[in-house]
Amino acid sequence: MICFECGNKISDDFRSNGTFGVFLCETHQNIMDVVLKKLGGHSDIGRFYFALKKLGLDPFIGWWNGERHVPIAIGRYRLNLEFYDTNLPHDHSLALKRQQIESYDHQRQFICLHIPLALLEDHLTHTALLIHNIHEGLRAY
Ligand SMILES: [Zn+2]
Repeated sequence: MICFECGNKISDDFRSNGTFGVFLCETHQNIMDVVLKKLGGHSDIGRFYFALKKLGLDPFIGWWNGERHVPIAIGRYRLNLEFYDTNLPHDHSLALKRQQIESYDHQRQFICLHIPLALLEDHLTHTALLIHNIHEGLRAY
């Protein structure tokens, strides 16, 4: 079995569990676990990251922007993806407020989208395709 992230053969001693929709070597499984812990422990963000990679995008996960870890960033087209938990009270309105303020980061010239985690749980592929379409649209500029 081959690691999706590095292309190296996965050791027979390590059983990749495919949590993120791909098989990973022990090193990359550990890296994902550490990064996701910093992002609140949502494995759906990891599944989404690999769904984007499968579509040919080149995202970063847990990218440090000098102030905080951005969950997913697509650096080439300056697109940041933030996620919020719809089960938390007032989180929708808070996310909308943040979306209004942070749609465009003038300091770093990044576009930012706030995406509910529930969308990743229920519509992972569609959401990945949506981001792919936005990404393709940004390429035109
Ligand atoms: Zn690997």
